[in-house]
Amino acid sequence: MSVEVIAIGGYEEIGKNMSAVKVGDDVVIFDMGIHLDRLHIHEDTDISRMHSLDLIERGVIPDDTLMKDVDGKVRAIVFTHGHLDHIGAVAKLAHRYGAPIIATPYTLALLEQTIKGEKKFSVSNRLQVLNAGEKCQISPDITLEFINATHSIPQAVMAALHTSEGIVVYANDFKFDNHQKISSPPDYSRLRELGRKGVLALIVETTRAAEMQEVKTHSEKVAKMVLEDIMLGPMEEKEGMVVTTFSSHIERIQAISDIASQSDRQMLLLGRSMERYCSLAENMGILKLPPNASIYGSPKSVSKALARAEDKREDYLLITTGHQGEPDALLPRIANAKTQFNIQRGDNVVISAPVIPNPMNIANRNLMERRLGSSGARIYSNAHVSGHAGREDHRDFIRMLNPVHIIPSHGDLNMLSAYAELAEEEGYKMGNDVHVLRNGQAQVFDGGV
Ligand SMILES: [Zn+2]
Repeated sequence: MSVEVIAIGGYEEIGKNMSAVKVGDDVVIFDMGIHLDRLHIHEDTDISRMHSLDLIERGVIPDDTLMKDVDGKVRAIVFTHGHLDHIGAVAKLAHRYGAPIIATPYTLALLEQTIKGEKKFSVSNRLQVLNAGEKCQISPDITLEFINATHSIPQAVMAALHTSEGIVVYANDFKFDNHQKISSPPDYSRLRELGRKGVLALIVETTRAAEMQEVKTHSEKVAKMVLEDIMLGPMEEKEGMVVTTFSSHIERIQAISDIASQSDRQMLLLGRSMERYCSLAENMGILKLPPNASIYGSPKSVSKALARAEDKREDYLLITTGHQGEPDALLPRIANAKTQFNIQRGDNVVISAPVIPNPMNIANRNLMERRLGSSGARIYSNAHVSGHAGREDHRDFIRMLNPVHIIPSHGDLNMLSAYAELAEEEGYKMGNDVHVLRNGQAQVFDGGV
């Protein structure tokens, strides 16, 4: 029996991730993501009324039409974390496969929300929870295992498929963070154990592979210390304070909340996606906010909350959407004086997110920072650490798993080939056992590890 890895999306871009692994006649799909850049959309955008083929045409979701030529039965659709570039296309694609959707509880709840919000297709796939550290049999020959990982969203896992031909590991996305408050450290000992058992193939993210520095990515604890140093002093003063970060970055929002709790300020989490990710995380007991914190998503409730903060800015800490300067998100609207809360001289704006480098974001963010600055705000830019493994983390990972074959994924050609180069430093050879695929290509391995 052979094992085939099919690259469907995310092999030419950061976004619209989707891969399939075929073992004999059984197929497992990993991820169905969207490519935010393609629609000039962001985490607040609504695609619920759009048709799959239209979205495929625009390059927003993976082109899975090639799957109809794959001779096999899809047994499961597996999601390893809840970022939109991994789950955002579920409601557009999953109904084509009569297979259960499997994910950890927080990821599954986000998937369920996405499916409920869908207005074009009815999606009735069975939803199945699998926790980190657990296994489930998905066909006579395939057992799926989730291994605890750390990333920038709670309950991220790596997936291992145990097959008669060897183990296939899917590691999209991860960082090695030993100091998160919400997520326990990655399960290194299990990864080493899999390495000893025999990993046939590793499908792995490459987000930071093209960065020249030989780094291990810093822990979230470092981001917390940076934020503490920025926020603690000004929170005791009379000026306003606004923090913006990724709505799904619950670990970071927990850190901001813990810092805010050291002052008398009341936290207001504002924006549609802030409500989507944070209310869910709070209801599931993942995010622990102080009793006086409030989350507002609807434009009306956000507007009311901002009016309160405008009157007594020294009493509040605002956490908003809009870190990339997306024109219709909240912080850019504040910067453009389009809300009830007006930036005054000396107000503090903390941007706990990097510029995600595409020309649109660079321009939007630049404009927003300039507008905030011209209103007299004090801006703390890039108070952030990455959620993705650095080059040296990847080197450690390869040594832990010792896979026979590696397929770099989740990046453009520059990133995939930078990873391939790193793998060559570890003794692999391009074309022999490191395989750079493009969207729509497949790689077949003979098993028997
Ligand atoms: Zn991610």
